[in-house]
Amino acid sequence: MTSILNADLHCHSVVSDGTLTPEDLAARAKANGVELWALTDHDEIGGQHRAAAAAHAQGMAYLTGVEISVTFADTTVHIVGLGFDPNDTRLAEGLAATRGGRGERAKDMAEQLAQAGIPGAYEGALQFVGNPALISRTHFARFLVETGVCKDTSEVFRKYLIEGKPGYVPHRWASLGNAVRWITEAGGMAIIAHPARYKFSANEEFALFSEFKAHGGRGVEVVTGSHSAAEYVTYAAMAKEFGLAASRGSDFHSPDESHTDLGTLPLLPGQLTPVWELLAERIRHPAAV
Ligand code: AMP
Ligand code: MN
Ligand code: MN
Ligand code: MN
Repeated sequence: MTSILNADLHCHSVVSDGTLTPEDLAARAKANGVELWALTDHDEIGGQHRAAAAAHAQGMAYLTGVEISVTFADTTVHIVGLGFDPNDTRLAEGLAATRGGRGERAKDMAEQLAQAGIPGAYEGALQFVGNPALISRTHFARFLVETGVCKDTSEVFRKYLIEGKPGYVPHRWASLGNAVRWITEAGGMAIIAHPARYKFSANEEFALFSEFKAHGGRGVEVVTGSHSAAEYVTYAAMAKEFGLAASRGSDFHSPDESHTDLGTLPLLPGQLTPVWELLAERIRHPAAV
């Protein structure tokens, strides 16, 4: 396989903070021309069997996927895992531990929002949750839009849910080393998600990339819905500098909220090694089901 492939290796379903089912996402990916797909719910692989079955029913190749929340240099960093064994016990335990604090965090967020004059946010957010184990800031954002507090979810994040704002509760997620190891030891490949989003200094970013490599990480998202065209160029250069394979994914969450639809981003720039080239043996084709 070459870089000329419509691969979309990052998106979310109702199993985390997306609004579509794995089946509806598979159909949408197929309709948009996706040839290789992965569902990467946050800290959760409960949708993997459904996603793989739906992809194959649509005639699309599939890679197992997840997006793990990590705390690195006091910042939340996301690590995508692709091509792992979805029945691996240690990965399942690691993910369960990672998402375990979300319930308490959500209650703390609601308490802070109540103090800021917005009562009932915990119960309100729960109405939008598809998986009780996975309550996220996105569900709070949807509640605040529905109740007219803000006009869209971006405004909710800007005014209420990011560091320094009334509904923000700091949280300690998995360590970088553990996340990379859980994925790698389950036979998968660890990939730094949307690196331009982290607002790191050059030194911190260098530390992230070098420590990620040292732990066994092998890829970085270059073309993602979170990057500008200039950032594709920046992270293509970073991929080469650190000897990492390159990934591509929309980070699609919802037809009503996401700017980038499944399968619609530019292709990966040439002269990079696409992650799917290294994962060829892990890609399940419809014929192999
Ligand atoms: P959590 O894992 O609960 O901290 O929620 C993180 C999720 O919130 C991300 O995966 C995005 O889906 C969403 N998110 C984060 N920042 C923003 C933003 N500025 N605008 C809209 N959604 C955001
Ligand atoms: Mn999300
Ligand atoms: Mn992310
Ligand atoms: Mn994501």
